[in-house]
Amino acid sequence: MGRLILLALAVLILVWLLRRAFGGRQADAPAASGAPGELVACAHCGVLVPRSEARNAAGAQYCGEEHARLGPRQP
Ligand SMILES: [Zn+2]
Repeated sequence: MGRLILLALAVLILVWLLRRAFGGRQADAPAASGAPGELVACAHCGVLVPRSEARNAAGAQYCGEEHARLGPRQP
């Protein structure tokens, strides 16, 4: 009888842990992925590119390697 209660308790704890793991993952997913649809403007030509595809150089975002090399457009 005592073992049955212990087994039920173990199952309950397992379910609780699984739910907690899934809940945490669902809550973190949008923030962790960094909003994949977010667009940033190229500092050289101003074209909008997804943040995940933008080149980061000297604290500015660029649409590609070429513009990252050229740097911000001079006025
Ligand atoms: Zn560009």
